Amino acid sequence: MKAVIVGAGMGGMSAAIALEQLGFEVEVYEQVTENKPVGAAISVWSNGVKCLNHLGLEKETAEIGGILDSMSYVDGFTGDTMCRFSMQPLIDEVGQRPYPIARAELQQMLMDAYGFDDIHFGKEMVAVRSDENRATVEFADGTTDSGDIVIGADGARSLAREYVLGGPVARRYAGYVNFNGLVEVDEKIGPATEWTTYVGDSRRVSVMPVAGNRFYFFFDVPMPEGVPFERGTAREVLAAEFADWAPGVQTLIAELDPATTNRVEILDLDPFDIWVKGRVAVLGDAAHNTTPDIGQGGCSAMEDAVALQFAFRDHPDDPIAALDAYQAARTERAGDLVLRARKRSDVTHGKDPEKTAAWYDELRSEDGTNIIRGIVGNIVGGPLT
Ligand code: FAD
Repeated sequence: MKAVIVGAGMGGMSAAIALEQLGFEVEVYEQVTENKPVGAAISVWSNGVKCLNHLGLEKETAEIGGILDSMSYVDGFTGDTMCRFSMQPLIDEVGQRPYPIARAELQQMLMDAYGFDDIHFGKEMVAVRSDENRATVEFADGTTDSGDIVIGADGARSLAREYVLGGPVARRYAGYVNFNGLVEVDEKIGPATEWTTYVGDSRRVSVMPVAGNRFYFFFDVPMPEGVPFERGTAREVLAAEFADWAPGVQTLIAELDPATTNRVEILDLDPFDIWVKGRVAVLGDAAHNTTPDIGQGGCSAMEDAVALQFAFRDHPDDPIAALDAYQAARTERAGDLVLRARKRSDVTHGKDPEKTAAWYDELRSEDGTNIIRGIVGNIVGGPLT
């Protein structure tokens, strides 16, 4: 059985490893010419870590993962702690520690596990099609490749999705912009093993540890879509946006590197339940583009990869049945995560200011129980539950 995978992001690479474990011949094609992930880091929640462990990467993942022992919310203006609690109850309940991980390191780990030199870089898919016996990809350089299946792991602006759905679909602007990057750990911002989130005025400023004594940081700022931004100016923009915020936030703004700080307009896509057309299937953001508000987009892509493996394990000689089983296993779960993230995003970013104010009040009397229950609700339900 041969699989052609388009897109060497965390979804495509996880799928490549998962299918190789089943003995597939796998070819991975990626449009960029070098491995340069967009964005600084992600939180790989316990469900994502379980998938990486399943792909044989338990030791490697633990090595590049940050240690997250506790979580806190802080009043963005006063710097007063609203609530602080241990992550241990979550780890005990789901049986796996989560790991925030720098994207470059996650990507490198996955690429090395598959075989970096076996990835075909600089190959842009321009068309895909399926017929009775094969699925075929055409590249911008005029070449083609075909296999028993094609997996479109080509991200949020997926061309494979257009093929599967029969046309383009419009993504939705979530109403806010996310600035993110990496800084050295500084306990003036937050404790070294804590996920600290400053909130106020429908905004959020967060730091969480990744390996190498670094914090992954992000700022969420509600604003209209399309506001111009010049790369390198993040410090000035954030200093103006957060001028009256607490000292920890000012320290972060002073210490971040504007040259490497990313700015992303956050969009998502209404869930859809057709992921397969003939021998072509979508996976990862191509299939479920979510806001990052519950940190599950990448984890969900990893779940897709494991579910795809299970589908072919159960239907080893029948790609059509296997892809059907993959679709049946994933659409509801992935769509649920998209909608959960959207709901969380609306509360965090002041879609209804009264609900946001009520959430701030809840945080002041929270002992961690409700927040952990919510996170566990996101984590469970995947192929490895
Ligand atoms: P991508 O990573 O987008 O990879 C797609 C690949 O396909 C790219 O390399 C692209 O170059 C390639 N490609 C595209 N088109 C073509 C083509 N025509 N031909 C060839 N190659 C092509 N998720 C989490 O789990 N936890 C988090 O904490 C988290 N935080 C996030 C924070 C932000 C600000 C954002 C924006 C997202 C966050 N996510 C998080 C989501 C996560 O980044 C995505 O879900 C994940 O990257 C999806 O992986 P993917 O492989 O499907 O797509």
